[in-house]
Amino acid sequence: MSVTTSAPTDSAAHRLKELCGDIVHLPGDPSYDAVRMPWNVAVDQRPAAVAVPASADQVAAVVRHCAVLGLRVAPQSTGHAAAALVQHDLDDVVVLRTGELRGVTVDAERRVARVGGGTLWQEVVEAAAPHGLAALHGSSPDVAVAGYALGGGIGWYARKLGLATNSITAVELVTADGEQLRATTEENAELFWAVRGGGGSFGVVTALELRLFPIADAYAGMMLWDLQHAEKVVRHWAAWSATAPEEVTTALRVMRFPPMPELPEFLRGRQLVVVDGAVLGDDERGAELVAGLRALEPEMDTFARTPAAALSRLHMDPEGPTPSVGGSACFDALTDGAVDAFLAAVGPGVQTSLMIAELRQLGGALGRPAPDGGALSMVPAAYLGFFVAIAATPEMAQQGMVDVARTTTALEPWSNGKSFLNFAEGPADVAAAYEEGAWARLRAVRSAVDPREVFLANHVVPGE
Ligand SMILES: Cc1cc2nc3c(=O)[nH]c(=O)nc-3n(C[C@H](O)[C@H](O)[C@H](O)COP(=O)(O)OP(=O)(O)OC[C@H]3O[C@@H](n4cnc5c(N)ncnc54)[C@H](O)[C@@H]3O)c2cc1C
Repeated sequence: MSVTTSAPTDSAAHRLKELCGDIVHLPGDPSYDAVRMPWNVAVDQRPAAVAVPASADQVAAVVRHCAVLGLRVAPQSTGHAAAALVQHDLDDVVVLRTGELRGVTVDAERRVARVGGGTLWQEVVEAAAPHGLAALHGSSPDVAVAGYALGGGIGWYARKLGLATNSITAVELVTADGEQLRATTEENAELFWAVRGGGGSFGVVTALELRLFPIADAYAGMMLWDLQHAEKVVRHWAAWSATAPEEVTTALRVMRFPPMPELPEFLRGRQLVVVDGAVLGDDERGAELVAGLRALEPEMDTFARTPAAALSRLHMDPEGPTPSVGGSACFDALTDGAVDAFLAAVGPGVQTSLMIAELRQLGGALGRPAPDGGALSMVPAAYLGFFVAIAATPEMAQQGMVDVARTTTALEPWSNGKSFLNFAEGPADVAAAYEEGAWARLRAVRSAVDPREVFLANHVVPGE
């Protein structure tokens, strides 16, 4: 090939299009604006090019040519985490969108699903359910398996069954030199260790295999109260969740809804406190575990036997393009002081643009390293805070960021300083997401498999 790595970026991107054809979209192409649009439409990502390959071979060709042309490659499935990606300069970056690499095959006997590198969780949920099986999906149906599971993955079974990344049994990926590899605990084991929790710094994942679990249904649902009852609900939940057994996983959210006509009446224009989650147990056990919350007389209570397939929509996460800004923090405990600070930041009577101030209950299996796990096999925190504002205009985004920062700052005295990168919506202390030894090992793997740092992840693991 005659092109050198010193070619200016725009001519390198043009050359990439010449080499790869119509799967590459350049600034100025009529298609560019549509393909560069991430799920989080508040994020204005403008890379040197967007590639939308339809096969692993096409992914390999794009990566190989980018490496030679001096372009970097940012794998992206949906762009739920695009806000973290755009903290980096994208002038020499090709965003490689995996949305065409979809599909799910379930091997019910082995309890394994093979999924394409751009597959959404809802597709896996629907394919597994007819076999009485469930995967470790999260709260959103249209988050992609790849970004979620490579970054950790906390779902409704997490306190019992751990992070989703521990359920990955194999990945197929394209490395920085365009090679297509399979990685398991036996084959390319060091790379397999790194991608499980290390994220998108090591290659483009074109397919994954995931363990499925024999879960047909759960005792699951939500309870909601008007925000005026927040004090008693938050205090009770904080005390109860600290010692609750690991078959239950819940989240508590303070939610503020605009008076939008498309919202159901129980949400429209309301300020609420909501607890939702799932119990892996029979109805009697489930009712026993949520009895204390129920005694607080929620105005709505849907906890009941629920098909596993319905759990992907339990949290009412927005589907389709959504403009948002957010931030997160990890806590070892929710002390009385932390609850006071939470209520002072988002409780009744407070003016805030945050639509969601969420506390997720961790611990249980999430707090223990998984045998044979990867770079991140547990979360070193008992609670995770996630704070989100809708950002339909630049002004809303700005105000949202102010309120996200105000809330995380108010809770900072109780934060343990760790990061959980799936919920880090902007620049984050990436090293703080890992044990020290794991961070050094991740950096060594990066140097070994991608010495020229061709790949750009939302949260970068740099080489040594
Ligand atoms: C509404 C909402 C609900 C959420 N709920 C949960 C939840 O319940 N639990 C939880 O743990 N997280 C949750 N998250 C966080 C979510 O897991 C992260 O945003 C995750 O990164 C999204 O993955 P994605 O592939 O859809 O996003 P993308 O933005 O496409 O990808 C994020 C990063 O993952 C890497 N990546 C993605 N695809 C590939 C690939 N094929 N090959 C290599 N690298 C790749 C890249 O580094 C990329 O920058 C939620 C986020 C939102 C916005």
